[in-house]
Amino acid sequence: MEFDVAVIGGGINGLFTALDLSLRGLKIVLLERGSIGSGTSGRMHGLLHSGARYVVTDPRAAIECAEENRIVARIAPHVVDDVGGYFVAITKDDLDFQEEFISGLRKANIDYRVVDTRDAIREEPNLNPEVKAVVEVPDKVVYARELLMSTAISAYNEGALVIQNAEVIGFDVNGNGIMNARVRDRVTGNIKRVGARVFVNAAGPWAGRIADMAGINVNIMPTMGVMVVYRHRLTRRVMNRMRPPSDGDILLPYGFESIMGTTAVIVEDPDNLTINKDDIDFLTSEGSQMIPALTKEPVIRAYASVRPLISIPGATGREATRDFMVIRHERPSNFISVIGGKFTTGRLVGERIADEVSKVLNVNKPSRTRDYVLFGVDLSSDVKDLDVEIRSITQSFRGSIDEERGLIASLSLILYQISHKSRSLLGW
Ligand SMILES: Cc1cc2nc3c(=O)[nH]c(=O)nc-3n(C[C@H](O)[C@H](O)[C@H](O)COP(=O)(O)OP(=O)(O)OC[C@H]3O[C@@H](n4cnc5c(N)ncnc54)[C@H](O)[C@@H]3O)c2cc1C
Repeated sequence: MEFDVAVIGGGINGLFTALDLSLRGLKIVLLERGSIGSGTSGRMHGLLHSGARYVVTDPRAAIECAEENRIVARIAPHVVDDVGGYFVAITKDDLDFQEEFISGLRKANIDYRVVDTRDAIREEPNLNPEVKAVVEVPDKVVYARELLMSTAISAYNEGALVIQNAEVIGFDVNGNGIMNARVRDRVTGNIKRVGARVFVNAAGPWAGRIADMAGINVNIMPTMGVMVVYRHRLTRRVMNRMRPPSDGDILLPYGFESIMGTTAVIVEDPDNLTINKDDIDFLTSEGSQMIPALTKEPVIRAYASVRPLISIPGATGREATRDFMVIRHERPSNFISVIGGKFTTGRLVGERIADEVSKVLNVNKPSRTRDYVLFGVDLSSDVKDLDVEIRSITQSFRGSIDEERGLIASLSLILYQISHKSRSLLGW
């Protein structure tokens, strides 16, 4: 089977690329070496950025986040919790940053409200009583896996094949272009060939390795971050430290729990991450400056993932931009890579990559993803050829005590079938 485009990587960037291109009528296959979301996207912090965090240090990323925050909430309301966010000044240095911060919010056109500290403590009783200033912004929480799976199912519904456990291990290059990706089927161990007119490298922190396979050097700076999960939800809103982005400055309510993050350390190998007790102690200590009760909270677990940041000579993980870059390589001429970005801007990345692919393939259709409501808002809506038993299980959650929790179970089941179906359509 020959495809118009093979997308490598089932993270937020690859998935929105596959959806966008399918909606433009192209024949797409998405290859993911593990399961959908098994890379960085399924291990992020959970913040659908309002953009506020970047208004001073990275204004372009801030403006993109601000717009995507609104779009994602509109197209995926079932996975977005509009909790709002506070930026809180705890020290005099934080307070000194307030003026620059507010001026940045104005320039980026981000809604904000300066909140009286007594009102803020009434709203958020766990907030440090010594808080010096509070600014409210439209931060939201996004449920990562649900959004990823909803996007994968939507892409499939629009004609894409989505294959999990399909690891790209090399390319067959002919003259100036790639003919096939060589793919290890991690279920059977067999090596397969997948042909396409264009190949998109959306492998996140592994993008450098994929580019290597095509004989290209792509400079990414894999930067690890640790998150700590605490037993209880301690705040209604996302709590951000009012200072330039630094380690340990966001506490986020995720369902019934709280997640504190994060750190930024450049690593060699995104598959080999170690979390130290020091990381957990550090994050708890930083978080407790905003929410003192954090020190008494049981830590359930910690996890880590790697940002695929754009490499800037001499920069550390915190100095690197959170913006993204779509690269159309000269040779092989049918190969496009993306590096950088945020989970929040994944839809926009997909749109930009799809624009580049459209130029290569001479397709003249605009992106539709900014108004495309994703699968999952209503679980009874159609999925192509969905197994009757799976449909009956997913629908049985409706109107039950577990309707909300049933979402992730339902999406997982549907995704399993989609990957299966896609494999059989490929003859795997
Ligand atoms: C600690 C941390 C916290 C973060 N928190 C936030 C946040 O709160 N909000 C926010 O907006 N952003 C956040 N980010 C940033 C955001 O998570 C990432 O920018 C984004 O998820 C990257 O998506 P991606 O699709 O590029 O990469 P990934 O999600 O890593 O996707 C790449 C995929 O490629 C697959 N792959 C790799 N090699 C191969 C191969 N050979 N063959 C096939 N597939 C392959 C991987 O398995 C992976 O699934 C955070 C990042 C980190 C590290």
